[in-house]
Amino acid sequence: MSLQYRMYIGGRDYEHASGEWFDTFNPYTGEPWARVAKGGAEDVNAAVECAHKAFTSAAWANLSASQRGQLLHRLGDLVARDAEKLAALEVQDNGKLIAEMSGQLKYLPQWFYYFGGMADKIEGAAIPLDKKGYFNFTRHEPLGVVGVITPWNSPLLILTWKLAPALAAGCTVVIKPSEHASVSTLEFVKLFDEAGFPPGVVNVVTGFGADAGSALVEHPLVRKIAFTGSDISGREIGARAARGFKRSTLELGGKSPNIVFDDADLDDAINGAISAILAATGQTCIAGSRLLLHRKVHDEFLSRLIELARTARMGNPMQLTTQVGPVTTVPQLEKILSYIDIAKSEGAQLLLGGQRATRPECGNGWFVEPTVFSGVKNSMRIAQEEVFGPVLCVMPFDDEEEALSIANDTRYGLGAAVWTRDIGKALRMAENIQAGTVWVNTYRVVSYMSPFGGYKDSGLGRENGLASIHEYLQTKSVWINVGVKTANPFVMR
Ligand code: NAD
Repeated sequence: MSLQYRMYIGGRDYEHASGEWFDTFNPYTGEPWARVAKGGAEDVNAAVECAHKAFTSAAWANLSASQRGQLLHRLGDLVARDAEKLAALEVQDNGKLIAEMSGQLKYLPQWFYYFGGMADKIEGAAIPLDKKGYFNFTRHEPLGVVGVITPWNSPLLILTWKLAPALAAGCTVVIKPSEHASVSTLEFVKLFDEAGFPPGVVNVVTGFGADAGSALVEHPLVRKIAFTGSDISGREIGARAARGFKRSTLELGGKSPNIVFDDADLDDAINGAISAILAATGQTCIAGSRLLLHRKVHDEFLSRLIELARTARMGNPMQLTTQVGPVTTVPQLEKILSYIDIAKSEGAQLLLGGQRATRPECGNGWFVEPTVFSGVKNSMRIAQEEVFGPVLCVMPFDDEEEALSIANDTRYGLGAAVWTRDIGKALRMAENIQAGTVWVNTYRVVSYMSPFGGYKDSGLGRENGLASIHEYLQTKSVWINVGVKTANPFVMR
């Protein structure tokens, strides 16, 4: 294996302390294709100190907000130029379809343009005080060094949701990408130098969560952790960040309900239900993994859905004709198969798939057949726990009230969808579903302009949209005496 990736600290390749490496695998071949530097606390310390120095350096701190914005614009242009190359690297590492990854990468520059445009619109306020003789105003100032910890499923998209507002706000950043998909991040950060960012503003430490990730969360100079990943890690990271009085944004898991009423456009809803669970082979936090069908359409919908799911073409994720790719890691493959066993043992009825895919076009890759269970009860583990794979649970309901009660009976609250032609019903459901995003007659649309985040155990804070920049800012209140005599405190009046 000739390819080897070092960390990126202080604007250059960095020789890491341990000298150890770990392999990164291609999920389609099941083979390692590159090795990546294994970082630990010492490397994290070097990266954070570099980011801290950059935060107060004239080269970064003295830039005007407009200049920061221009740098982000330039970066967006470079990402647009290299989109195909970066997308292909992501597919090598996480096995997602090239069609999806290149779509994401081509869309990515919009985040840098949007937040770049926001950099010089971070305005404080003049407060209309209750006290005469004083003038009071607010400033929104960058937090400092931000630790960004990302998962493997959409490495650069999820990174950008954090990086673009953090840099627009004036923070500096240390990134710890997933140990399963670090390479695209390491290639991407090389663009910062070309865009003209001062060295040290963006740094990457690669390695595992337990050592590199954990050291980043604990580092006293880190003022905020922006994390996307599992709720198990998120709970630990959020608690540890809080102990150090660091802020955190946590984007975690989901068990999103996809609710189809009998008055819906069923053709659209079937397409939507399939893409909600099979996109990214179900490895997305917003997978529509619980399909709630109105009893009147339940049987017909289900048989048409299964017919369509049977036609999914599995195989090489680099081919544009492939519709379902492999899952990203062996533990992920094992986890999905074990949940299939759990569902069977709980009494759910297996209608499709239910095993590792052994089709010739899947080669030695880590593939799971698209799987559908009906007769699922919402209390079953298969309906309550995040599988993160192409496994759909189908449940019937009789009316709005029952649909809502099933939808909300989960500790998660990330996404949800409602399919109906009745606008009143759509709005009532949208109001009452406990989730950070509700889609009506669509699924999985996101934008840099619209807030994204979780209710309940799906996380804390919001990414995207105007307000999200405040996740990287702190507010200062400035008081000015404009005419009040400062009295001698020892003279009685
Ligand atoms: P994970 O939690 O195992 O790892 C995510 C990142 O956190 C990795 O970089 C990992 O090294 C690091 N990490 C793990 N433990 C850590 C610790 N104790 N301290 C510091 N860092 C630590 O998650 P994953 O398996 O990479 O990703 C899949 C999960 O991510 C799923 O549960 C999914 O729902 C969730 N996800 C959520 C969103 C969202 O926006 N809400 C998006 C994508 C994925």
